[in-house]
Amino acid sequence: MTVDLDAAVFVAGHNGLVGSAICRRLERRGFRHVLTEPRSRLDLRHQTSVLRWFEQNRPDYVYLAAGTVGGIAANSRRQAEFLYDNMMIHANVIEAARRVEVTKLLYLGSACVYPRLSAQPITESELLGGPLEPTNEGYALAKIAGVRLCDFYREQYGCNFIAAMPTNLYGPNDNFDLESSHVLPALMRKFHEAKEAGRDQVEVWGSGSARREFMYVDDLADSCLFLMDHYDEPGHVNVGTGVETSIAELAEMIRSIVHPDAEIVWDTSRPDGMPRRSLDVSVLAGLGWTATTDLEVGLARTYAWYLDRLAESGPVASNSLRLGADHDDREQVRVGSDDGERSEVAVP
Ligand code: NDP
Repeated sequence: MTVDLDAAVFVAGHNGLVGSAICRRLERRGFRHVLTEPRSRLDLRHQTSVLRWFEQNRPDYVYLAAGTVGGIAANSRRQAEFLYDNMMIHANVIEAARRVEVTKLLYLGSACVYPRLSAQPITESELLGGPLEPTNEGYALAKIAGVRLCDFYREQYGCNFIAAMPTNLYGPNDNFDLESSHVLPALMRKFHEAKEAGRDQVEVWGSGSARREFMYVDDLADSCLFLMDHYDEPGHVNVGTGVETSIAELAEMIRSIVHPDAEIVWDTSRPDGMPRRSLDVSVLAGLGWTATTDLEVGLARTYAWYLDRLAESGPVASNSLRLGADHDDREQVRVGSDDGERSEVAVP
């Protein structure tokens, strides 16, 4: 059933990559009553505050896109925090949604919930089929608990709670902090900074042969609204493009958009990571939704946003763009700091 444009819709995590894209999409569709609350006013880890907020604001629909997220380094160093924060946030929001009888809730999971050695492309049925990637096990366990909570709340209480599992995302409000960003914004920033510094070489770790899936975040947001309108079943749904791109192809696209004169120097002594990682999106396609934004188009939009943000921050270094907040499931990124001439990007 299509959601009424007058419904009260709460977007948890509205400042993040995903939450901000969902807000943009809701606004574009004409939703008149979108609820958001900054973390400074509502820490979603605190059960009584969350319950009180839900009782006072009575949302009809909830997009749960808030969480403590980070790259491989942050994930592996802070497993307790990633597990605790996310379990609390997800459990509190889901339980509060039940108590105030929210009509429907969409939970954002992640491809990292799947076992490390899943067959590629990964189908929904791989969940809980084997050991997790140890470097983000705490985070993945919390996300798995969130996915299962949605199903158990449906079974036990009859709540219409659903879960989407997005692939790697990118777009406006992405994280360009080289310490914690995904490979895509990291590459974009490295080419940009090479161009600004008049350097014509950008070094990238690995051979470029690893294949990944990249989805423009506005497409993800569109799929979330689609699922809110059309999906009322138990079981999580993969969300991706169904298109795999090699890191070499990605680097070449970014080079041609950002710094066409640059030469890519592959450091093949560095690891490539898993040869392939992508989601099987046939369930979502069967429901009638497919992604529409070509990677080149999404990259150009993202770079335009990045330039705008740099211009807004004036002479401040791009390190200070939000570009600082951590993200989910990040590829590890290292920046050569010794001579300032070389950049290194790893894609494990
Ligand atoms: P971001 O880090 O960009 O956004 C997370 C949001 O959660 C921020 O707005 C943050 O607030 C908010 N938040 C964190 N902790 C709290 C808290 N204690 N109380 C209230 N708000 C809080 O993450 P993404 O948008 O990238 O990810 C959102 C969801 O999508 C996550 O569940 C993630 O697993 C999932 N996902 C993301 C992918 C990606 O490639 N980025 C891929 C697959 C899934 P503040 O702005 O104050 O920091």
